[in-house]
Amino acid sequence: MSRPDRNDPERAGEWHALGATDAATRLGTDASRGLSSDDASARLERDGPNDITRRVSAGPLKRLLLQFHSALIYILLVAGAITLALGEWLDGGVILAVVVVNAAIGFAQESRALKAINSLRMQMSERALVIRAGKRVRVDARQLVRGDLVALEAGDRVPADLRLLEVNDLQIDESALTGESVPVAKSADPLAESTELADRVNMAYSSALVTRGRATGLVVATGDASEIGRISELIGSADQIATPLTRTIARFSTLLMWAILGVAALVFVMGLLRDQSVYDTFLGAVALAVAAIPEGLPAAITIMLAIGVSRMAKRKALIRKLPAVEALGSTSVICSDKTGTLTKNEMTVERVYAGGARYSVSGAGYEPRGEISRDGAAIDPDEHRALRECLVCAALCNDSSMRESDGRWSVEGDPTEGALVVVGAKAGLEPESLREDRTRLSAIAFESDRQYMATLHEHDAEGRVVYLKGALERVLDMCERGTDSSGEPTDLDADAIRDEAERMARDGLRVLAFATGDATGDTERLREEHVEKGLRFLGVIGMMDPPRPEAIDAVKICRDAGIAVKMITGDHATTAASIAAKIGLGPGKHKERADDDQPEVVTGSAMSKVDDDDLPALADETTVFARMTPEQKIRLVRALQSLGYVVAMTGDGVNDAPALRQADIGVAMGITGTEVAKDASDMVLADDNFASIEAAVEEGRTVYDNLTKFIAWTLPTNGGEALIVLTGVAIGGVLPITPVQVLYVNMTCAILIGLPLAFEPQERDIMSRPPRDPSDPLLSRALLMRTGLVSILIAGGAYTLFKLAILADRDAGEARSITVSVVIACEAAYLFNCRSLTHSVLHVGLFSNRYVWVGLGAMALVHGAYIYTPAMNRLFGSAPIGLADWAMILGVAAGVFAIVGFEKWVRRSFAARRAR
Ligand code: ATP
Repeated sequence: MSRPDRNDPERAGEWHALGATDAATRLGTDASRGLSSDDASARLERDGPNDITRRVSAGPLKRLLLQFHSALIYILLVAGAITLALGEWLDGGVILAVVVVNAAIGFAQESRALKAINSLRMQMSERALVIRAGKRVRVDARQLVRGDLVALEAGDRVPADLRLLEVNDLQIDESALTGESVPVAKSADPLAESTELADRVNMAYSSALVTRGRATGLVVATGDASEIGRISELIGSADQIATPLTRTIARFSTLLMWAILGVAALVFVMGLLRDQSVYDTFLGAVALAVAAIPEGLPAAITIMLAIGVSRMAKRKALIRKLPAVEALGSTSVICSDKTGTLTKNEMTVERVYAGGARYSVSGAGYEPRGEISRDGAAIDPDEHRALRECLVCAALCNDSSMRESDGRWSVEGDPTEGALVVVGAKAGLEPESLREDRTRLSAIAFESDRQYMATLHEHDAEGRVVYLKGALERVLDMCERGTDSSGEPTDLDADAIRDEAERMARDGLRVLAFATGDATGDTERLREEHVEKGLRFLGVIGMMDPPRPEAIDAVKICRDAGIAVKMITGDHATTAASIAAKIGLGPGKHKERADDDQPEVVTGSAMSKVDDDDLPALADETTVFARMTPEQKIRLVRALQSLGYVVAMTGDGVNDAPALRQADIGVAMGITGTEVAKDASDMVLADDNFASIEAAVEEGRTVYDNLTKFIAWTLPTNGGEALIVLTGVAIGGVLPITPVQVLYVNMTCAILIGLPLAFEPQERDIMSRPPRDPSDPLLSRALLMRTGLVSILIAGGAYTLFKLAILADRDAGEARSITVSVVIACEAAYLFNCRSLTHSVLHVGLFSNRYVWVGLGAMALVHGAYIYTPAMNRLFGSAPIGLADWAMILGVAAGVFAIVGFEKWVRRSFAARRAR
C-alpha cells in the first residue's frame, strides 16, 4: 500500500540540522504541550499506524529446500532414484512422493511454529509515553504520529524516529541500526547538515534501546518511513527453531544414516551370496533403508514444541525462543524477584516514623481514605510538623499520581510511589497543588543500583530545596542531622532509626527513608555529588505489599517438584526474609542453621566479599538474596550453573539484561518490564506472576514427556520393519514387505496414531518428579531395552504370520498385507503402553486423550481402504485378507500389549520395593 505524502520523505534526513523550535514548527506541533488528541487522531488516520512491515528473513523457498537437507532424506532420495533407474516407476514414484509430502508437512509445521512465536511477539505490544495537550499518557506505540512529543526513559525502546528536544544524561544503544554495540551519549543541539547518520547525536532512531537517562523528542518519522523501517529485513522475526533436542535428533540421524548404509550394504552382499538377482537384492536393500528411517520424527518434534508454545501462552507465559520450551522442562532453580512477582505490587503505607514518634495509618488499597493515629488515637497531621514534612517530601520526590474511575482507585506510575501519594492524601496534602507551589527543577531518577531518588524544587518563599528518598542504609549515610518533633534540626540518632526500621521490616513492611537538604551551588541540574552528604533526615515509612496467594501455591508445587526457588530482591534483608517466610520459602536445605521459620538471607554486600570459588556453595544453600544489585544477579546465575543447575531468572530493568541472557531461561516481566529486559529474555510473563513460571515449567515437563513417549513409540516401527526385511533377506524367498509398503506404514502411523501423543494430558505425578538432568540421554536404558523388545516382538509376529501364509501357498500380495497389518496393529496396541511410560494406561485414563481415538478411527478407515480397495491394491501391491487372518493379527497385537504391560509392571514393582 502506498501512502502518499507520508512523513515527507524529501525532507527526511535533515531534522538534525534544525533547531528545536524550527523542527516543532515544521511538524506543526507545540514543543512543550505536544499535539492535541484530535490532531493526533487526524494524523493517524492520514498517515497510518506506526508499524513496520515485517519481512521474514529466510524466504519460503529457502525454508522449503532446507526441509530436504537431512541425512535421512538423502538416503530416501537416492533410494527413490535407484528404484526409478531399475524401471520401477510406481515404487520410485511413491518413495519420491513421500519425500515431497514429508517436506511439505515439515514446512507447514515449521511455518506455523514460526508464525505462533512471531504473533506472540506482536502481542507483546509496546507502549510509548507521549505528551498530548500537555498531559502525559501511555499509548500503544503503533498510535504514534509525526509531530508527537514523546518522553523516553531508561529501559524504553525508541518508538519512532525522534528529534531530541530535552536530554538528561541520555544514552542509547543503537546496535540494531548501526551495529555499534557501545551506547551513544545524546544531546539536543543542532548539528551540521552533512553529519552522518551514526553521528547524529540529537536524533533517536526507532527500535534503539535507551540504556540510561531521560529525554523528550518530537516524532519525525514513523513505521516504514523510519530509518529502521527503510533498512529492515528481519525486525523481530524469529527464524531460529533449532533446539538442543532437534540438534540431538539431527546428530542421531547422521549416525542412523551410516548404520543404515552399513546394514543395507550387508543385505545387498548377503542377497548376492545367496544367488538372488541383483534386482531383488537391491529392492531388499532399499526396503531396509526405507524401513529404518523415522520419516515423521522431525516434523513431529516441531509440532509438539509448537503445541507447547501455545499451551504456555494460554497460561500467560509467552515464549520468545523455542529452545526455552525444552529448557523449562529441566529447570532446577528459579531465581525470582520479590516485588510484583511473588508479591502483588500493591503497596499500602501502614506506619510512619518521624520526629521520634511512631504513627500508624489505616485504610486499604489505593483509596485515599483512612486516618493517621498515634498511640491508638487519631491525630491532626497539620499539628505534627516532622510528620508533615516527611509526607511532603514523599509526595514531591515522586513521579506517580492517583486516579479514580468508577469508584476504583488506582495509581499511575510506580506503586511504591503511588502509596506515598495516597498516604499524603490521607494526611490532607494535595499533591497537585504542592507540586505547583514547588516547581521541580531537576531530578535524579531512581535506579536499583543507586537505591535512591532525589528532586530539586524551587519555592517562591523558601528558595531551593532538595528532597530525597531511598533505601534506609543509603539515606542514613548521606545525613548529618536529624529532625525533632517540632520539625527542627537536631542530632542524628541513627541507631534509634535503624531499630525502628528493623521493627517494620520484621513485620514484612517495605521500608523507605526520607531526607531533605539545601541546594548547594546555583545549579539547576541535580547531580549525585549534590545530594550524597550533608542532608537532614526526615523519617521512615513502612508499607505493606502482600504476597500473591497463587505464588504461595506455586512455590510449594516447585519445591515438591525438586525445583529450588530463590528470592532475589533489592529490598531490605529483614523485609525480604519476612515476606519469604510468608510465601513458604522457609528454611531450605540447611534448616538446622536457620533460626525459627525464617530462611537464610545473604545480602549483596556480603556476597561481594565471597570469592568465585566459594560462591557456588553459598548460592546453593541460600534462599533469599537481599539488597542485590542487578550486576550481582549474573554472578549468582553463573555460580548456580557451575553446579549443573538449569537456572530460570526473572528481571525487569535495563541492568537485568546480562543476567537474563546468561540464565538458561531469562524471564522478563510483561507489564512492568522494560523493553531492554524483554529483548534479552527467552520468555515473557504476561501477568508478571510467579505462578506463571511454575505453569510454564509444568507445560515444559509435559512437552518433554510427550516427546519421549512419541520417540519411544515410533522407533519400534522402524526397528520392527528393519528386522522383518533382514529376516526376509536372510531366510530368502519373497520379500515380506516392499519399500512402498514400508513407507505407507511409516507415514500413516506417524501421523494418525503417533501424533495424538502430542495432546496427551499432563501425568498426575509430573510435578512430583525431580527435574530432568539435561545430560541424560533421550531414551533411558530401560526405554531402549523396551524399544528392542517391541521391535523383536513385532518382527517375530509379522514374519511368522507372513511365512505361514506363504507356506499355505497364498499369493505374495495377501501375505504382505498380513505383514503390514501386523505392524500397524502392534503399533496401535503399543500406543496404549506408551501413553504413560511407567504407569498402566488405566492410570492415565483410557479416554483422557480423545485424539488417540480419533486417530485410531482414521487409521482403521485408511487401512481398510488399503486392504480392500482395488485402487490401493494396485498402487501398493496389497490384497484383501480374511477374518481368520484378522483374528491372528489382533492376537499378536494383544500379545505385544500384554507383554509390555507386564514388563512395566515388573519395573514398577522393583522401583517401589527399592523406594521402600
Ligand atoms: P525486587 O528486586 O524484588 O523486584 P524491589 O522493588 O524491592 O524489588 P528495587 O526496586 O531494586 O527492589 O528497590 C530497592 C530499594 O530501593 C527498596 O527497598 C527501596 O528502599 C528503594 N526504592 C524502591 N523504589 C524506590 C523509589 N521509587 N524511590 C526511591 N527508593 C526506592
